Amino acid sequence: MAVHIHPSVDDGVRQGSGSFTGGTLMCKCTDEAIKVGIKGDVAHNHACGCTKCWKPEGAMFSVVAVVPRENVAVLEHGDKLCVVDASATIERYACKSCQTHMFGRIERTNHPFYGLDFIHPELFLESGAQGPTFAAFVSSVIESGVEPGDMAAIRTRLKELGLEPYDCLSPALMDAIATHVARSKAG
Ligand SMILES: [Zn+2]
Ligand SMILES: [Zn+2]
Repeated sequence: MAVHIHPSVDDGVRQGSGSFTGGTLMCKCTDEAIKVGIKGDVAHNHACGCTKCWKPEGAMFSVVAVVPRENVAVLEHGDKLCVVDASATIERYACKSCQTHMFGRIERTNHPFYGLDFIHPELFLESGAQGPTFAAFVSSVIESGVEPGDMAAIRTRLKELGLEPYDCLSPALMDAIATHVARSKAG
């Protein structure tokens, strides 16, 4: 079986230039597209199997990364943005016309990832942003309709691509969350 993870990695993961200084994210509208400016490179770029992240038509995983929220600025047609689910921890701002998620933001100041916005680097008009380095919430693709029996092939393919599969976040991010929790308890 040919496993399709995401169009931007199926032919091999493109590594970042290492000197990406930022760029512009654009939604999929052919007319009056939303543009969001990003300063600097992205971090923790990864394939995500959760059911909440935006992914292009037909993709099994999303590709999502973080940037400091102060590095995110809506440049054009911000009036077309709406929050997909205001009750979710990450408020995902999507285009009302094409449904593309432009950025996700956490407003709970005590959240471990407060201060970071989630973006989809495939929407950059420019190339060179950091490439994905792991796969998160891999088992969750079953919730999107993937056959449990296909999981072994999917994990094998992710490893081939150099995207180590995890069923939650990567160890570095899980450590960051636990550190935040430990420090909040100590405080
Ligand atoms: Zn749009
Ligand atoms: Zn996700």
